[in-house]
Amino acid sequence: MNADLHRRAEVLIDLDAIRHNIALLAERAAASGAATMAVVKADGYGHGAVPVARAAVDGGATWLGTCSLAEALDLRAAGVTVRLLSWLDSDDVDFAPGIEQGVDLAASSMGELSRIAAAASRTGARARVHLKIDTGLNRNGCPPESWPQLVKAAAAESDVDVVAIWSHLACADEPGHPSIDLQAARFDTAYSQAREAGLNPLRHLANSAATLTRPDLHFDLVRPGIAGYGLNPVSTDDDLRPAMTFRSTVVLTKRIAAGESVSYGHTWTASRDTTLALVPAGYADGVPRTLSGRMSVWLGGMRRPVVGRVCMDQIVVDCGDDEPPVGADVVLFGAGAEGGPTAREWADTIGTIDYEIVTGMYRPRVHRRYLGGAGR
Ligand SMILES: *Cc1c(COP(=O)(O)O)cnc(C)c1O
Repeated sequence: MNADLHRRAEVLIDLDAIRHNIALLAERAAASGAATMAVVKADGYGHGAVPVARAAVDGGATWLGTCSLAEALDLRAAGVTVRLLSWLDSDDVDFAPGIEQGVDLAASSMGELSRIAAAASRTGARARVHLKIDTGLNRNGCPPESWPQLVKAAAAESDVDVVAIWSHLACADEPGHPSIDLQAARFDTAYSQAREAGLNPLRHLANSAATLTRPDLHFDLVRPGIAGYGLNPVSTDDDLRPAMTFRSTVVLTKRIAAGESVSYGHTWTASRDTTLALVPAGYADGVPRTLSGRMSVWLGGMRRPVVGRVCMDQIVVDCGDDEPPVGADVVLFGAGAEGGPTAREWADTIGTIDYEIVTGMYRPRVHRRYLGGAGR
């Protein structure tokens, strides 16, 4: 799709905001002696992995984290040279290209460890492995009862360097939740067992929420994702700046009479004569249809309600007796600095989290434009 012909709806990504956020997080981490891994999985949470990666490195990240090996290799192909960790693939992934490109790999089981070791011996290079202990999320990671066997096997693998042990928190976004300390205690036990097996690994545990609220859990490396994009999972008053703005423009205005109804199903009826503005962004562009009747946009220096159903390609804004010019800027969500709508507000309205809103903005029909970070 020719991106330049698809500016009806676009996301603006402020790379200076990302650099600023990562610098803030990296400063926190450095105060506890930890390095910073910016998590850029899922195409940089919908912001674009490569530009985000560069901005994050500029901001002080010395590691980047991806979910899949393919995501990590895309970064390498784009010339990103910092340490990369990829952590979750299907069992048929070929680890060899990752090992050759110096991508650190996660292992949660004997099976994963031996597939990584086999790939390493095929390539002739050593694999850099982060062993993952499940401390209570009960998702991926090695269960504690199998851990002693995993660390012993890893220590005995001649083609594998164990770089780190790591885990992931279930409830870090609820500071004070008892599971956090329980997971930290299990992590300590896992570390002791790794040391007993003869390993001397780094440790990492903290996501954004723990980076912001639990300096005692920073260990050697923190792994913030969402906070780097300026969204705060713990609502602290830290100066995080949302990097993504979703905008469009007015393409048509019209006057309708009181009693006329708007959009499919006629769910909204004008109670007075009013002016409607048509905005060419709909659910195919990332506006959840479940926001129908429950959203407003920033248009002409104020909030205005979106009326009637959100359609596939368009929404309709009630402008009262104002008549915005065709081409007027419409912000669907953004940093919210002037009181405009935010991704968080969308999430709260429809019962999800802002992670899902921004990650869902990676769509071929929505143009992506970068601000700041010039020349890189
Ligand atoms: C996504 C992810 C993170 C980042 O989490 P945030 O809540 O976005 O900071 C960290 N570690 C792992 C293993 C993840 O999957």
